[in-house]
Amino acid sequence: MKQLRKINAVKNSQPTLEGAGVRLRRAFAHNEAKLLDPFLLLDDFRGDNPESYIAGFPWHPHRGIETVTYMIEGKIKHEDSLGNGGIIGLGDVQWMTAGSGIIHSEMPQPSSTGRMGGFQLWVNLPAKSKMMAPRYQEIKEEEIPKLHFPNNIEIKLIAGNLNGTKGPVKDIVVEPTYLDVTIPPEISFTLDTNKGFTCLAYAIDGEGYFDEQSVKQIKDTQLVTFDDGEYIYAKAGKNGFRFLFISGMPLKEPIAWAGPIVMNSQAELQLAFEEYRQGTFLKHK
Ligand code: MN
Repeated sequence: MKQLRKINAVKNSQPTLEGAGVRLRRAFAHNEAKLLDPFLLLDDFRGDNPESYIAGFPWHPHRGIETVTYMIEGKIKHEDSLGNGGIIGLGDVQWMTAGSGIIHSEMPQPSSTGRMGGFQLWVNLPAKSKMMAPRYQEIKEEEIPKLHFPNNIEIKLIAGNLNGTKGPVKDIVVEPTYLDVTIPPEISFTLDTNKGFTCLAYAIDGEGYFDEQSVKQIKDTQLVTFDDGEYIYAKAGKNGFRFLFISGMPLKEPIAWAGPIVMNSQAELQLAFEEYRQGTFLKHK
């Protein structure tokens, strides 16, 4: 018999001020980084008032990580030190490998209703890839497979493999799965997971359950972490349930983290900040 992944913990995302004054909700960060290895951080920056987000995230560096931005309302304008620039539009995903370093700005643009929103996940890079050349995987909404399952369950497959379909994100060391799952009211389903991989879910609409007895109700903006096992169970409540499901292979390496830079040792971290001050931070131009 296959082993169900039990809920390990349920956590409310925390209001946080980031960038030049963006009010967002932080689902997890430093305190959970070891438990959620290879994932470092998840920010939920959905907002309905431009004043709460328009200041954006002006020029800042990253090294040693990947940042994954998924927009579900409005858009983000980005520019970087390599001369890249563009718009992450509605439904699009930008999977950015900072590697040895980039300096970029990420500026939210309101939709016509004033709403803007999406999610940014930080994925750690293994020691051997921390200083790799930076790269982008820019995925447009229409390139993301929308898989339909019985009972009108819909899954957007951003990364990973599901029922023989491969998501558009390629060649990431931690073999990530990143799904946007929508389940109609009162419907349940199960999803196979790799044993030994880290799995988490972040609720983004409605309410539902990840326990087969439907005891622990999970609501919008709550994070769920799971024990090890071979599948997860999910069931929607009366209003339906939408959540992000994210899974990846743990790196099991030391984490040295300060602000936007994540390395393996304090010495590497100090060097990164020293290079940033000296203007020698960028290794690949
Ligand atoms: Mn950034």
